[in-house]
Amino acid sequence: MDTLIIGSGPAGYTAAIYAARADLKPVIYTGLEPGGQLTTTTDVDNFPGYPKGIDGPKMMDELKEQAERFGTEVKIDFISKVEFSKNKGSLHKVFSQDGTEIEAKTIIICTGASAKYLGLPSEQKLIGGGVSACAVCDGFFYKNQEVAVIGGGDTAVEEATYLAKICSKVTMIVRKDHLRASKAMQNRITKYPNISILYNHEVEEVIGDNLVVGIKTINNLTKETSEIKITGLFLAIGHTPNTEIFKGQINMDESGYIITEPKSTITNIPGVFAAGDVQDKEYRQAVTAAGTGCMAALDAERYLQEI
Ligand code: NDP
Repeated sequence: MDTLIIGSGPAGYTAAIYAARADLKPVIYTGLEPGGQLTTTTDVDNFPGYPKGIDGPKMMDELKEQAERFGTEVKIDFISKVEFSKNKGSLHKVFSQDGTEIEAKTIIICTGASAKYLGLPSEQKLIGGGVSACAVCDGFFYKNQEVAVIGGGDTAVEEATYLAKICSKVTMIVRKDHLRASKAMQNRITKYPNISILYNHEVEEVIGDNLVVGIKTINNLTKETSEIKITGLFLAIGHTPNTEIFKGQINMDESGYIITEPKSTITNIPGVFAAGDVQDKEYRQAVTAAGTGCMAALDAERYLQEI
């Protein structure tokens, strides 16, 4: 086949729409979470073209429908192994869950990244009920409310400063006695008097039945516990790119994100392209993922014309 797409978030389906319209007859393997991270969100209010917002799963269904309209074949299955060829023009092999071998001239990797969670049962229960891993997606729902952000890296600072413009109070919960975030990012915090930082603190429990009403924290030096009343808890403890099956086959950075050439989706493997969060730890938005999905289809089309 000409083009195989792995992963079915906004990047994967947008790549499929463009590839199908270019008559590349793409096949998309959806992976274990068809629709990707947006299927765990409720309202998507920041995707252009939906003035009233749209339900995350509905948006992904519509993207799927749009991809199928132009002839994309959607396989509800996942790829468990890949064997990339290093030679331009030769076929790449991938294997689906049941061991079926598939050969493709071009492959577009759109497997995304997953936000890390603490793993507490009380936290898992309240995902979508006040526990979120995306301030840009969900911050709006906490207007003038008190929220907390867990983490001390660049993402945590970015999330906290974003929320500080919307919420009345933002408490950062940091497990060490210092922030990991760059000095430039840390300086941003000083501009927001409504952000406070609790160092050496960890969250033991998220309180609430259906909605978050607070968190139980522990000072990891003194072992003192306390409760903080909040309505929103934002996790910012990092993301894990979904690149396990590509290890050793393609160039990645030290965190496992696939490296693409600047302003393109080209990887170090001829005919293999990467789009969306799997190659982007900076922006991570549905619309930026969709944008790079489009780029990947165009890059694949150009590559196919060359070989
Ligand atoms: P990081 O890995 O840099 O930071 C994760 C933070 O979460 C750390 O403070 C870490 O603590 C904390 N943490 C991890 N696990 C837990 C846990 N179980 N409980 C409590 N705290 C925990 O991830 P980021 O997402 O912040 O950043 C990823 C990369 O993206 C970085 O390279 C960053 O520079 C970059 N980035 C850059 C941005 C920018 O420049 N605008 C914006 C966003 C990201 P500890 O320090 O103790 O390990």
